Amino acid sequence: MFNVEGLSDTSIIFLVLPKDPRDSSERYDPPTDYIHCGRSFGRFFFSHRNSYLQPPSAVVDYAKVTEWLLFCENHHSKLCRTPTLPQLPSFQVIDCQSRTVVPWIYEDAGNVFLTLSYVWGTANVDSLSADGALPTLLPAVIEDSISVTLRLGYRYLWVDRYCIPQTDEAAKAVQIGNMNMIFKHSELTLIAASGKDPSYGLPGVNGNPRRTYPSVTVEDQTFYPFLSNAAHEITHSLWNTRGWTYQEALLSRRCLMFTDSQVFFQCRGMHCQESISIPLDILHRPEKQKVRGSILTVPKTFASDDPGTQPTPFENVVNDYARRSLTYETDALNAFQGVLRALAMPTGSGPKPVHNFFGI
Ligand SMILES: [Zn+2]
Repeated sequence: MFNVEGLSDTSIIFLVLPKDPRDSSERYDPPTDYIHCGRSFGRFFFSHRNSYLQPPSAVVDYAKVTEWLLFCENHHSKLCRTPTLPQLPSFQVIDCQSRTVVPWIYEDAGNVFLTLSYVWGTANVDSLSADGALPTLLPAVIEDSISVTLRLGYRYLWVDRYCIPQTDEAAKAVQIGNMNMIFKHSELTLIAASGKDPSYGLPGVNGNPRRTYPSVTVEDQTFYPFLSNAAHEITHSLWNTRGWTYQEALLSRRCLMFTDSQVFFQCRGMHCQESISIPLDILHRPEKQKVRGSILTVPKTFASDDPGTQPTPFENVVNDYARRSLTYETDALNAFQGVLRALAMPTGSGPKPVHNFFGI
């Protein structure tokens, strides 16, 4: 009988220890180890200092996120390269250092910006001050996103709430029409995939709690449950049901998704989650442009191809979007306009552009 923290009525029948994939060049299958705990079965894995599986800590592992970003930037030159941002009228971003909304400076080619995708909720938007300063009290998800932006070494963040004029309908329409450009040119999109509104914040950031896991210690070795599948959490999130968020994810080259348990990264070339620490070199094909398909069974959260570059039937994209919910039905075309514009752009050797006239 062992001491199992977080579980009651516990009796252990057996444990099977998975082997470390780095010990062998053979194809690796994820652990299928089971532990019998009372009347329920849970998947457990063996955790030790050389294991490729690690339970996420209470705080986001920024070093690991930085490693993902650097690998993507250094190796995914074909799929994830940063295009040059064209001139977008009235485009503005949050300067996270000064907490002020500022016009984008195109002359500084080294500047990049991040974007945020979240559930808008029902709360009213506080106005900016005359000099563009953000309100003192921000919704938690925006406050946390500013922290993440700075923590990852970036300075600028685009958030629709403050960077799209909410009271100027003409200016608002222009910005909505540029959504495909904004998300396509974003260096990284932060996705708040947990909670039901902006007050929830990002788990693992600024002290926001994360889901904890039971563990069992046998002598000097600790066992943890096979951690939740981040892609499953994202797929079943409220964020994944909302209309506006559909194109925000689809149009982004890189996404960092925050769930209640961990962060999940997906770019055009790879996808990985915080609880798995397989070296990225091992995950990738020899040319390192894309992950191998056979070594990791963690699923993607959504299509990672640039819209319009693969022969995906147009109806599939529309059907996926049609399952989403909108607060205002009048937004049906606006919230899809970025995808429509992306599909209408020529893609060289890809499929032919799909044009539309007011959504038809
Ligand atoms: Zn990439």
